Amino acid sequence: MTHSLYALIRSRFPADLSQPLLSTPDGRSLAYGEAEQLAGAYARSFAALGAVKGDRVAVQVDKSPEALMVYLACLRAGLVFLPMNTAYRPDEVDYLLGNAEPAIFLCRPQDEATLKPLADRHGVGHTLTLGTAGDGSLPVLVAAGEGPVPPVVACDADDLAAMLYTSGTTGKPKGAMLTHRNLASNGVALVESWRFTSTDVLLHALPIFHAHGLFVACHCVLLSGARMIWLEKFDLAEVLAVLPQATTFMGVPTFYTRLLGSPAFGRDHAAHMRLFTSGSAPLLAETHRQFTDRTGHAILERYGMTETGMNTGNPYDGERRPGSVGMPFPGISVRVVGEDGVTALPVGSVGDIQVQGPNVMLGYWRMPEKTREEFTVDGWFKTGDVGLIDADGYLDIVGRAKDLIISGGYNVYPKEIEGVIDDLPGVAESAVVGIPHPDFGEVGLAFVCRDPATAAEASEDAIMAHLKEHLANYKVPKKVFFVDSLPRNTMGKVQKALLREQHKGMFTSG
Ligand code: ATP
Ligand code: MG
Repeated sequence: MTHSLYALIRSRFPADLSQPLLSTPDGRSLAYGEAEQLAGAYARSFAALGAVKGDRVAVQVDKSPEALMVYLACLRAGLVFLPMNTAYRPDEVDYLLGNAEPAIFLCRPQDEATLKPLADRHGVGHTLTLGTAGDGSLPVLVAAGEGPVPPVVACDADDLAAMLYTSGTTGKPKGAMLTHRNLASNGVALVESWRFTSTDVLLHALPIFHAHGLFVACHCVLLSGARMIWLEKFDLAEVLAVLPQATTFMGVPTFYTRLLGSPAFGRDHAAHMRLFTSGSAPLLAETHRQFTDRTGHAILERYGMTETGMNTGNPYDGERRPGSVGMPFPGISVRVVGEDGVTALPVGSVGDIQVQGPNVMLGYWRMPEKTREEFTVDGWFKTGDVGLIDADGYLDIVGRAKDLIISGGYNVYPKEIEGVIDDLPGVAESAVVGIPHPDFGEVGLAFVCRDPATAAEASEDAIMAHLKEHLANYKVPKKVFFVDSLPRNTMGKVQKALLREQHKGMFTSG
């Protein structure tokens, strides 16, 4: 029996293959039957180029229906799909190509002159281009293979289906090796937990080089025979225009703050909606509450990562708690452990979050040492996140272990400090990071972004007074910096490492 994720996806296509898989606001539409044909044609092209099961296909292209078909083609052919962030500069592409050694590299036509020499240097056999819809690039790929479409390649559950690099928030991106079992089990768990059916219409505005847009969003649709409204990116006006046609929407927190920033956004936009989900970065409790006030919908926040797919989510039925990421999805176990790294802590205690289940990756590509480090002796994956499980079984994330500040021997969780700062009128958002200090080991610095209209209420003195009123002295940051915006990467994650790097010598050098 094959464990090919493509075979599973194909078995869940609607009986009527003329049903649309996706449509774009400019009137393009792709039926399930066409998707099957394109995936087959691309698979034939890859085979004609000599790619064989297990080879990597690296892809740095703009979001398009064809790009999604390349993913399906890889699944179908037993090739390992390796999407790359479109924001990566040539140096970063160079690193990934050297690390992954793909057989085929697909880039944007305008990048070919720069990137092909890099690919050639790393022995990549073929560099092809794929533009966005309608520029004639589609036939080029297909023309590389003629003749009958090859059969769906049989796969074991532990064969690699995709390799995704982590977002690089805490260091160099690492290649997570994801198997057909990982992706299939997580996709099925999400479809069931979130009740996806063929009548659903998902508004898809996420990038597809990341697990959120590629796996979470597309698998929910592909495994339920549903339909997507496909946007190249999150464009506020476009999202507002098409939202009334959708039933479900998946976003990163910044999507929600941007929707709330539009005075026009309200109940009418959400009239047919049954589900809004958020993930990839923490959703502020305040955003959650404002969204409920404005639309009547409670956003379902969930927690996942490149290495594991989705771990936990707030309940579909039942209370969706602001500030919590909910309970494990079916088949997945989550524990919070203490100092020894393996013993589960009592309810409500803060510790390291670990995960076990069919969703957990095989390991990091060509990093056996790192892989060993990130799994416990009893086989749990160390997420690198810190949190607690409360008496009702809800998981709350306190922050990343790497962001934890140890000041004068005390643990300081930046999220707690940020919450206190954010409560002050005039503050839009904040980030607290730790930097070395000769007396205390580490101390916190606060970076505060203010609402222009009410900024005066949040002076440095006002913030410090507020912090001292609500927090023990050792938790109070040593200095406040005002910034126009917090540095974020494309998935909306605050780049704390960057802030730390810029200020790390403040108390220790010179
Ligand atoms: P790197 O591992 O390279 O440093 P990264 O961890 O940001 O980058 P991803 O795999 O894209 O790369 O992100 C997973 C991380 O995102 C989680 O470990 C967690 O810290 C954060 N995250 C995801 N969802 C949530 C959420 N709902 N609330 C808080 N944090 C979240
Ligand atoms: Mg990570």
